Amino acid sequence: MSWTARYGTRTSVPMNSTSPTSPRVLVSGASISGLTTAYWLSRHGFAVTVVERAPHLRPGGHALDVRGPALEVAERMGILTTIRDRSTKLTGISVVDSAGEELFRSTECTLTGGRLDSPDVEILRDDLCDVLHGAVGNQVEYIFGDSIASLTQDESGVDATFVRAAPRRFALVVGADGLYSGVRRIAFGPDEQFLRALGDLYVATFGMPNFLGLERWQVMYSQPDSVGALVMGLRKDVNARTYLGFNAPRGLDYDFRDIDAQKRLLADRVAGAGWVIPRIVEHMLRATDFHFYSLSQVRMSNWSRGRVVLVGDAGYAVSLGTGQATSVAMVGAYVLAGELATHQDDLVAGVAAYEGELHDYVIRNQDIAVEQNARSDEPPDENATPGGLPDFGALTLPFALKNYQGGSRTISP
Ligand SMILES: Cc1cc2nc3c(=O)[nH]c(=O)nc-3n(C[C@H](O)[C@H](O)[C@H](O)COP(=O)(O)OP(=O)(O)OC[C@H]3O[C@@H](n4cnc5c(N)ncnc54)[C@H](O)[C@@H]3O)c2cc1C
Repeated sequence: MSWTARYGTRTSVPMNSTSPTSPRVLVSGASISGLTTAYWLSRHGFAVTVVERAPHLRPGGHALDVRGPALEVAERMGILTTIRDRSTKLTGISVVDSAGEELFRSTECTLTGGRLDSPDVEILRDDLCDVLHGAVGNQVEYIFGDSIASLTQDESGVDATFVRAAPRRFALVVGADGLYSGVRRIAFGPDEQFLRALGDLYVATFGMPNFLGLERWQVMYSQPDSVGALVMGLRKDVNARTYLGFNAPRGLDYDFRDIDAQKRLLADRVAGAGWVIPRIVEHMLRATDFHFYSLSQVRMSNWSRGRVVLVGDAGYAVSLGTGQATSVAMVGAYVLAGELATHQDDLVAGVAAYEGELHDYVIRNQDIAVEQNARSDEPPDENATPGGLPDFGALTLPFALKNYQGGSRTISP
């Protein structure tokens, strides 16, 4: 990447119908894929425990896009109307020079969402998590501020130890813990085996005061040396969300857990940049919702080891460039829970069915991201979209969602 429905009625969630004999599933990660998995597993009658490393739902993130089959997943969850209500409702983007003078503007497309007239939903990451968390309700057990330390499985279950909580046994463990998944590291091996850099862009996202006074508008600035920023403001009285990034053609070695070091590294890389970047850096250094990452994919030949299975970015991150990561994660979570429900008597078979059902869809999405990345040095196609801004809708793949009816808490059509 360079810098450059249907609406449904809310399906009511019945009260918890899990029984003491319901298989208990441990989900690691309370973000998009973890919460979607928890929702559907719970709806299908599983008992669910979610463990999240952060002390609460993680704040922050820029806008994410729910599109294509993920809109249908959201509709089946009864949250489509809510996420539309809480969407960014952006009205356009300006591209500025180092003095802040506007070079280009579009009221048809934005950099993060693509075409504004598409049926897709663009929503702040933490708003989407909040809606998903609300949909899950009190049906699942949460353990915040903890992580899985070890997993030992046999033919009937998985013994998990935690950094803080007491050890417990589960029927299945789902790693929904993102690009640097702890479950993947424990069950499959080190990150380097699976992470594939897609280009050389590194970005941080964080909130800051909306000092540019943006209302449902984005402003982008980029330099020939590849330092760039994208600021999005929804309302004057609400923090703006910022992407600040740079290209590192020789790669970057950094500790994904050391946020202070990441902030210093970023400040260093963008030092001396134009526009309002020095001011943005001041806010970045103080940000409490800072998130730094590379544009990477996770490529694995399969996403399970017996009773341990990965979903979303942990197993098959698509990368930022095609705007499909969140949708693929939501579809993956829906399919995983559905196949487990269909195979309640043999969860390992359910996991295999999930992999079989989703494999081609994931790989095709990842291949599109690789192709896009290879084309990112070519001049933008100004005829396709104004200013060559992305048309993510054109990159959205169809996926036929099954109607899973496996559990005791089945879905009304
Ligand atoms: C704070 C944050 C900001 C983001 N900002 C953007 C953005 O601006 N734009 C964009 O396109 N994508 C962003 N993403 C990534 C985006 O959410 C995903 O690409 C996509 O939605 C798929 O989500 P996921 O749930 O699979 O993974 P993620 O959204 O990455 O969620 C992983 C979750 O697992 C938790 N976790 C990680 N390690 C452990 C562990 N060892 N034990 C327990 N829990 C753990 C994390 O705290 C997080 O809650 C962001 C992710 C995060 C976590």
